[in-house]
Amino acid sequence: MDFRLSEEHQALRDSVRDFAREVVAPVIAEHYEQHTFPYEVIRQMGKMGLFGLPFAEEYGGMGGDYFALCLALEELARVDSSVAITLEAAVSLGAMPIYRFGTDEQKARWLPKLLSGEALAGFGLTEPGTGSDAGGTETRAVLDGDEWVINGSKAFITNSGTDITALVTVTAVTGTRPDGAKELSTIIVPSGTPGFTVAPGYSKVGWTASDTHELTFDDCRVPAENLLGERGRGFAQFLRILDEGRIAIAALAVGLAQGCVDESIKYARERHAFGQPIGNYQAIQFKVADMEMKAHTARLAYYDAAARMLAGEPFKRQAAIAKLHASTIAVDNAREATQIHGGYGFMNEYPVARFWRDSKILEIGEGTSEVQRMIIARDLGM
Ligand SMILES: Cc1cc2nc3c(=O)[nH]c(=O)nc-3n(C[C@H](O)[C@H](O)[C@H](O)COP(=O)(O)OP(=O)(O)OC[C@H]3O[C@@H](n4cnc5c(N)ncnc54)[C@H](O)[C@@H]3O)c2cc1C
Repeated sequence: MDFRLSEEHQALRDSVRDFAREVVAPVIAEHYEQHTFPYEVIRQMGKMGLFGLPFAEEYGGMGGDYFALCLALEELARVDSSVAITLEAAVSLGAMPIYRFGTDEQKARWLPKLLSGEALAGFGLTEPGTGSDAGGTETRAVLDGDEWVINGSKAFITNSGTDITALVTVTAVTGTRPDGAKELSTIIVPSGTPGFTVAPGYSKVGWTASDTHELTFDDCRVPAENLLGERGRGFAQFLRILDEGRIAIAALAVGLAQGCVDESIKYARERHAFGQPIGNYQAIQFKVADMEMKAHTARLAYYDAAARMLAGEPFKRQAAIAKLHASTIAVDNAREATQIHGGYGFMNEYPVARFWRDSKILEIGEGTSEVQRMIIARDLGM
């Protein structure tokens, strides 16, 4: 058993760490404040190969693995979560369904531009009326000759409305199974397809420099060959995508939790109270020690889930544990880091304000904490 990183993984981690500090940190507060998408940062991440990390070279990928993606997400989120979630959603929700389930034609058409970061894709599962209970999908797709006709709407879809968004994959009811349950399938809808409308961006509490929209489909027609993989496999497809995605979200949460430690140590050295730096007080030291303990154990949890996944072993429970634990401790650390910053922690000019605002969604997106507990309990035979 060895949790030390390989030389390649270490080199990747270090280069993303430098990039986050030197390129992301100086500009992100302005984007966050103005709610603007950081196109220039995303373009540079594309040039670094981050969008192609876990994909084969034949499609323009870097030939790395999913763990490499997680390391990159952790380092980005240590500085900023809007940029990190843009990468997470682009890779794990956007490109991955096409990579895993697409036909050769679909892969050849879409993957090169998605893996280079030149284009982004969204994953439309959640609807205004149903999120955790994704089997409750109401969007419908009916085959009319050689076209799917899609009607319905999707809520909170990341990367769905940027200037470089090329497509969204949409889960839709395409029929009824023999047992009476809904038959769900996944369909690729290119941006700009008539009948596909992207609403203006939401006003969000956090992740304000990331792109999130409600989408509507009104007699939206796409060719029959835009079906992703087999008809009726939509449920199995999104379960697989979400299982993997939970490891990535856990990595992102660990990054945020570690960023809280970094900022707290820095501030505790600078800030004086009662004649000395507040970091000299044991009450502050213990907070930082607890924050470091939490970030460390959550990191081990996502390393373990990723290792099982890469070994081809079952990893559903470990991914849920990693996501549940890492998101919980990210919220804890953001709260404590804010406390250490006192009144300045409540001012948007300090990174901890962003960490605080960005932490809560980690307990909600890609499966709420309650859903993670349901998965763990089910896997334990309950
Ligand atoms: C910024 C942002 C980005 C997102 N990006 C995407 C994206 O790219 N693609 C996408 O498809 N979705 C996306 N989502 C949606 C996200 O995954 C859902 O919000 C999440 O899964 C929860 O669904 P919901 O909001 O419908 O909550 P609900 O399912 O309505 O849940 C409400 C509450 O009830 C609880 N609950 C529900 N069922 C049970 C139960 N059986 N037992 C106990 N408690 C229960 C939940 O845990 C939660 O606390 C995004 C959301 C946000 C906010």
